[in-house]
Amino acid sequence: MKLLVTGGAGFIGSAVVRLAMERGHQVINVDALTYAACLDNVAMYADDPNYAFEQTDIRNRAALDVVFAKHRPDAVMHLAAESHVDRSIDGPGDFIETNITGTYNMLEAARAYWVAQNKPESFRFHHISTDEVFGSLPADPSVMFSEDTPYDPRSPYSASKASSDHLVRAWHETYGLPVVLTNCSNNYGPYHFPEKLIPVVILNALAGKPLPIYGDGSNIRDWLYVEDHADALMLVLEKGQPGRSYNIGGENERTNLELVQTLCAILDKKQPKAKGSYLDLITFVADRPGHDARYAIDPTRIRTELNWKPSVTVEEGLEKTVQWYLDNEAWWRSLQERHGVGQRLGTKG
Ligand code: NAD
Repeated sequence: MKLLVTGGAGFIGSAVVRLAMERGHQVINVDALTYAACLDNVAMYADDPNYAFEQTDIRNRAALDVVFAKHRPDAVMHLAAESHVDRSIDGPGDFIETNITGTYNMLEAARAYWVAQNKPESFRFHHISTDEVFGSLPADPSVMFSEDTPYDPRSPYSASKASSDHLVRAWHETYGLPVVLTNCSNNYGPYHFPEKLIPVVILNALAGKPLPIYGDGSNIRDWLYVEDHADALMLVLEKGQPGRSYNIGGENERTNLELVQTLCAILDKKQPKAKGSYLDLITFVADRPGHDARYAIDPTRIRTELNWKPSVTVEEGLEKTVQWYLDNEAWWRSLQERHGVGQRLGTKG
């Protein structure tokens, strides 16, 4: 299959590009290369005849038309987005432009191309979204996000993603564009940009710096290993029913405090501190404004309809992730110089 992947120089998009290439697909990686991008994530395929890179901004509709006409993809996997909640609190404008207007441009460029091809039934527009569109859950473990949970986004980031989900559904209902949607929980793993919680904790620990935990650390997330996520995304693309959405979770709920404690235990084993434990570096800092209490995915639909479940527990995934950061210092060192990385953002709310 010839796949047009947007955001393929980012964290999850690059995992999708690597998996699709491993599986013998052709990939066109469309990415504007914002502060969050790193082409090193896909450098192993730079000279592969099955791979092409287009530095294109999804806010530019005309440029997207050129990319579709040039590469003639069989399917689109749309991951390009502004993705950091804290940055969306300080500057929501980019989130509106890329996540909403950019998705609108992608839908229109894809629709024009699909119509010009006589509307092939096999074409797919796969929109990758987040469980944050569903809002915040109570502590009761029996309550989880299903595909039918009403939307209730609470941050500029999640509101922009919710808007883009609505646009994608509307393009299916109104124009018949064969779309599939996925809403996933928090990802982690190799190539995670060093402004997100897990890499921040690993890299601060290695530097002997405080490990910041927002609020009291009781917020619960359902952690999904990025390579499991990429596998699920390919499956939904190939087997998902047009017009349908699928929630993808890690089935690994942990409080932020538990997560950081697990990371400390792994680091204590792999790279012991000269004195004491990495736990000593844990520091509680001011909470994020509007911080959602709990996210948890009900995996019933993807399990029963597509027979998918994650391959690792969060402990196994974190072990692999810590090892990856220990082995890839050159990758993360250069990214730490980028604007805003290592600073506390999103406290202005
Ligand atoms: P990321 O920030 O690591 O990567 C985003 C990529 O999109 C970057 O390479 C960036 O250069 C590119 N991009 C941004 N604006 C662009 C524009 N205007 N035009 C073209 N390219 C642009 O993000 P990620 O964590 O890999 O997330 C990928 C997708 O998955 C996003 O849509 C995000 O909303 C969704 N998602 C992420 C998570 C998570 O835990 N990371 C969870 C749920 C959903």
